[in-house]
Amino acid sequence: MKFLLFVVVVLLGFWLWRSGRQNDRHADDPPAPPADPQEMVRCAHCGVHLPHGEAVVGRIGRYCSHEHRQLAEP
Ligand SMILES: [Zn+2]
Repeated sequence: MKFLLFVVVVLLGFWLWRSGRQNDRHADDPPAPPADPQEMVRCAHCGVHLPHGEAVVGRIGRYCSHEHRQLAEP
């Protein structure tokens, strides 16, 4: 019976040691890489550069605003 208790204690200690190591590994993980750099596009009217996602797409190019799209593509 003493032997069984010894095995349980050893297993419990091993389990605690393992879970502690896993937590350490999480702490050592490198920080998440920064988001991918966004492609920059140039406004076809004024030439300002802006992220691709914020550009207004026109028939002949991309623009920084709806205003510039209307000025360039009446
Ligand atoms: Zn513009």
